Amino acid sequence: IVELRGIRKSFGELEVLRGIDLEIFAGEHVVIFGPSGSGKSTVLRSINLLEPPTSGSLKVAGIEYGPGVPGEKAGRRGRPLELRRTVGMVFQQFNLFPHLTALDNVALPLRSVRRVGRADAQVRAAEALRRVGLLQRAAHYPQQLSGGQQQRVAIARALALDPKVMLFDEPTSALDPELVGEVLKTMREVAETGMTMVVVTHELSFAREIGDLNVFMEDGVVVDSGPRGFFEETTSPRAREFIMAVR
Ligand code: ATP
Ligand code: MG
Repeated sequence: IVELRGIRKSFGELEVLRGIDLEIFAGEHVVIFGPSGSGKSTVLRSINLLEPPTSGSLKVAGIEYGPGVPGEKAGRRGRPLELRRTVGMVFQQFNLFPHLTALDNVALPLRSVRRVGRADAQVRAAEALRRVGLLQRAAHYPQQLSGGQQQRVAIARALALDPKVMLFDEPTSALDPELVGEVLKTMREVAETGMTMVVVTHELSFAREIGDLNVFMEDGVVVDSGPRGFFEETTSPRAREFIMAVR
């Protein structure tokens, strides 16, 4: 459902993605991990065009969104708004609007991205909050919620748009340790619905549990990747070293 081929991204002189190839099938749960600055966030942000790639092919649900692979003829390209409807994202900092209730935070993109009417958006937002176990907090403002609850609202906001793919960029790393569990539990529940997920995380026990495909990145390239069992079986010295250091 997501295919990256030869994805490169430069910020000025600095090339932070140096040719990423990644194929993600519908329903798969992909874990991306690796050292700080290796380009993990940039990969996620390329997938939803928050950072448009400099070159390469990005296909989501059969539609091309990338600038193209050098030497290949570029075909028809999808529009970013179309992509935003297909791909949801959850950030490390929850990015909720402080002046909106939990319900309105979830309802807002339904109205702007999905063009859903006001009443319908409220109903769908309530349903999304119920899915993350926060319906009873619908009228609360972000500062009245714990970090874990705020992140679950952010997950509800992405879910409400009914995406085909959800991207999570270190969703628990801004949380106090005692709040990590509830967010992982919510993510596990989303995974169980068969949602296609790409998760950047250093929670390796969670990664072991959900990772159908595990991708180790360093310096803008995929150093090694593999299916379930990857954390025990990778032969990449750098990946092994990293796994030992993190756990
Ligand atoms: P972390 O684990 O710290 O989140 P990461 O693997 O997510 O790291 P990225 O955020 O993708 O790494 O960054 C990769 C490199 O790109 C870093 O060197 C970073 O400084 C650089 N970079 C990221 N975004 C920008 C930007 N908007 N402008 C310039 N450089 C950037
Ligand atoms: Mg990052």
